Amino acid sequence: MEFCESCGTYLRETKEGSWCPKCKKLIHSETRMRIENVNKTPSAIFVVDKSKDDYTRATRLCPKCGNVEAFHWFSTVSGEHAGVRRERTVEHLKCTRCSHSWTESS
Ligand SMILES: [Zn+2]
Ligand SMILES: [Zn+2]
Repeated sequence: MEFCESCGTYLRETKEGSWCPKCKKLIHSETRMRIENVNKTPSAIFVVDKSKDDYTRATRLCPKCGNVEAFHWFSTVSGEHAGVRRERTVEHLKCTRCSHSWTESS
């Protein structure tokens, strides 16, 4: 578990690093990468690199720069509405050009 250096918000883990939802900032944890490089074999590092390529791309219009390609992944958010507990799927999108991130919920 990590916290943002500038605002103290709990950072969300993403494949690229730790994401601060408050500062809208992606913090690459270089410290953790260094530890992994020391502890793991080169083949393990290759596996880490490979997981980056698993990022799925979707055709979405970036509201910031107008690019039509974005990385996307899904997460489920549970909340209560009128006393009924329900889960909804949130689509996370990140522009492949300007790295602008946004979410869309269904
Ligand atoms: Zn922050
Ligand atoms: Zn963009």
